[in-house]
Amino acid sequence: MEMDPWGSELVDYSKLFSEFGMQRMDEGGVEKAVQILNRSRLFRRGIIFAHRDFGKFIGDWENGKPIVAMSGIKPTGEFHLGSKLTADELIFMQKSFGAKIFYSVADLEAYADNGQALSESNKNAVLNVADLLALGLDPKNAHVYRQSEKKEVLRLANLFARKTTMATLKAIYGERGIAIYLSVLNQAGDILLPQLPEFGGPKSVVVPVGADQDPHIRFTRDIAQKFEEEFGFKVPCATFHKFFRSLNGETKMSKRDQMNVMTLSDDEGMLKKKIANALTGGRATAEEQKKLGGEISKCVIYELMLFHFYEDDSELKKMHEDCTGGKILCGECKKMRLEAISRWLKAHQEKKKKNITKAESMLTDD
Ligand code: SF4
Repeated sequence: MEMDPWGSELVDYSKLFSEFGMQRMDEGGVEKAVQILNRSRLFRRGIIFAHRDFGKFIGDWENGKPIVAMSGIKPTGEFHLGSKLTADELIFMQKSFGAKIFYSVADLEAYADNGQALSESNKNAVLNVADLLALGLDPKNAHVYRQSEKKEVLRLANLFARKTTMATLKAIYGERGIAIYLSVLNQAGDILLPQLPEFGGPKSVVVPVGADQDPHIRFTRDIAQKFEEEFGFKVPCATFHKFFRSLNGETKMSKRDQMNVMTLSDDEGMLKKKIANALTGGRATAEEQKKLGGEISKCVIYELMLFHFYEDDSELKKMHEDCTGGKILCGECKKMRLEAISRWLKAHQEKKKKNITKAESMLTDD
């Protein structure tokens, strides 16, 4: 099985443990923090389902050592539900474990992968960071920056190139252009940046990612080991979430497919259209659905509520029971969920507006 961090194929999660050596959430020392982790719907509902060495991060937290959670975004558009998933996890790590957040706006990757000008990335960066703040990021314990302007990241990428061969890059990522390989080195720079002396030196860093991003994690862990003597790097750890499907259920959610992505800036009309077209697990006829219940495992509407919009487990349980018990049909169900999502989006968009100035200053101050 191959994983493509830039692709949109669905991943067979069961093979990740046997073929790629990921650890389950009830092993490797993570189980000690289960009560705290389960405060997050993402851990509680098994959406974050695997890790690499996350137990070491938990151990350092228990011992009062400094810890960091880091991630980033390719600023090619508005925040969508996939970007929100990672942001929710970062914010949970900040609130529940006191982790400092590092967040890279990967404008160089947007240039390499999408050919997007840095000026365009600058505009999106402000909106993306405002989303992050509106979702609950505490700016006082966060370091947000643009990749192209972070000289330490660029310096690290150059140094890492010294111990990286084309054969390694090809083995992990396949045949790619130089720009993409450079992006990989920059990402390794982003992940290891918090451990530089100017940021307090070596420490545990967790990187929350979708399962398909594991090639970046494996590459960076390898680099950390190769440069351990020079920088004292600790090998970074990672948590892996299931990725969020596109609204038609066919691929992972991606900005490249505008009608099947739900962004945090969608207005009511757009949201209505997208929910109307989203994949459900509805049966062929109303009679059949009343008799057999809906096929909820196929339903993207259910996933929207499971991953994002029902915080309360009892609401989710009721939705599940009503669907599988044939007590509700998809039309009525969609109407109810549309109302809940629309309320959430409106409140979020209000908060985001109030955070634009703060986002600008965070990106300029860096
Ligand atoms: Fe999905 Fe609701 Fe239809 Fe069940 S009733 S398949 S949850 S839309």
